[in-house]
Amino acid sequence: MNATAQAWKNWSGSVQAQPSRLASPRTEDELSTIVRGAAKVRVVGAGHSFMPLCATTGVLLSLADLDSPIEVAADGTSAWVPAGWSLKRSHSRAQRRPERMALARISAAFRHSRTRFA
Ligand SMILES: Cc1cc2nc3c(=O)[nH]c(=O)nc-3n(C[C@H](O)[C@H](O)[C@H](O)COP(=O)(O)OP(=O)(O)OC[C@H]3O[C@@H](n4cnc5c(N)ncnc54)[C@H](O)[C@@H]3O)c2cc1C
Repeated sequence: MNATAQAWKNWSGSVQAQPSRLASPRTEDELSTIVRGAAKVRVVGAGHSFMPLCATTGVLLSLADLDSPIEVAADGTSAWVPAGWSLKRSHSRAQRRPERMALARISAAFRHSRTRFA
């Protein structure tokens, strides 16, 4: 688990913050320990928002490294990936499945989260 105190800024650098910790839990147990021990928590994705949504002096939590399975729909045409995974990680993990799923569309901003597989 990466949990350090360091400066954070969004993609453009227009929003900056000094969180008490930057935490990237790899398991649900680690995630639970961090949340239980924190007075204030905000979650960050790729930090592309221009609004000060992720700015905090508390714990800034990234779920990008959280290891969870991909859930594939029964008809095999779509899948759910864990919240916080980038398109790049989602695509990479989906490609390694037996179905070798691929993104129906690929964003120019490959670090963003949320997508649909086909
Ligand atoms: C160059 C550029 C182009 C863009 N183009 C478009 C566009 O074409 N269309 C469009 O709609 N938007 C666009 N955006 C905006 C961008 O898609 C949104 O700001 C989006 O929310 C960024 O996602 P993020 O993962 O970086 O979120 P962040 O900026 O990291 O977080 C945004 C919010 O989501 C919350 N959040 C993030 N991850 C989680 C999680 N796992 N669980 C709970 N809450 C979470 C955060 O707490 C925060 O409140 C663009 C941004 C940039 C920089």
